Amino acid sequence: MADDYDFPKGDLMKGKKGVVMGVANHNSIAWGIASQLAAQGAEMAFTYLGESLERRVRPLAESIGVTTMITADVTDDASMDAAFAAIEKKFGTLDFVVHSIAHADRDQLKGSFVENTTRDGFMLAMNISAYSFVDVARRASRLMPNGGSMLSMTYLGSERVIPNYNMMGVAKAALEACTRYAARDLGPSGIRVNAISAGAMRTLSLAGISGGRGMIAQGRSFSAMKEDTSMEGVAGCALWLLSDLGRSTTGEVVHVDAGFHMMGFPDSGEG
Ligand code: NAD
Repeated sequence: MADDYDFPKGDLMKGKKGVVMGVANHNSIAWGIASQLAAQGAEMAFTYLGESLERRVRPLAESIGVTTMITADVTDDASMDAAFAAIEKKFGTLDFVVHSIAHADRDQLKGSFVENTTRDGFMLAMNISAYSFVDVARRASRLMPNGGSMLSMTYLGSERVIPNYNMMGVAKAALEACTRYAARDLGPSGIRVNAISAGAMRTLSLAGISGGRGMIAQGRSFSAMKEDTSMEGVAGCALWLLSDLGRSTTGEVVHVDAGFHMMGFPDSGEG
């Protein structure tokens, strides 16, 4: 529940209404972000994938006062139409949206990128993990007449080769480019678009990557801070970008990974 973390309380999100997409369970990054936003007064709806997740997500949502829960499959236009119609009916207008969604088939996330990447695997990962953000940005921006803030989640595998991350790295590179193009389009409407590049964290998605748990250990030992990426750090960055503290920041990919991304080679500990 929200008590798993120590999120600062306040009213930075008071009066703001938004949608958080991608809570699957209490380990989800979307859950950490939503909990932090709730602790700062945000009013939210959750979208989640499929009825089977509802049993897990509803108690979490209710524990932070979120009562609007809508199923939405980002690969299905009819499902997205229905979800955004329900969101518009509930809130009228939006101030923020969090896209914390990705998927690739497991066989695209191991071994040789060149040998294992199939046409279908490529398209599926790009559709769910990158195109869906463009679709969400279009739908959400139409509900943001007073400006707003959009956020997605990415990982360093977009910029550098991370063994086994393979197809998801390519999809994340596309997602980051989508962030910049959307920021350019929506900037004149006062809508900011940013991404957080988080270090590896223990979630369902990570479990789908061959050797995913090893990514956490590597991230810790190679990072400048020699520690794991914290949910509090990721959620705090989300709060900055989604609240008015983030005004003037758009088109950014902010690394929240204890300084893993900027190291040139592993630190021997000498000197
Ligand atoms: P998670 O499994 O908890 O969340 C992924 C979510 O994507 C789930 O809620 C799932 O239902 C949703 N999803 C998948 N296919 C969907 C579809 N067709 N329609 C709608 N929703 C769909 O894992 P997470 O680690 O919290 O992942 C959230 C985001 O953070 C992802 O974009 C992921 O790539 C990114 N990220 C994760 C890490 C990490 O180490 N866990 C690091 C950096 C970035």
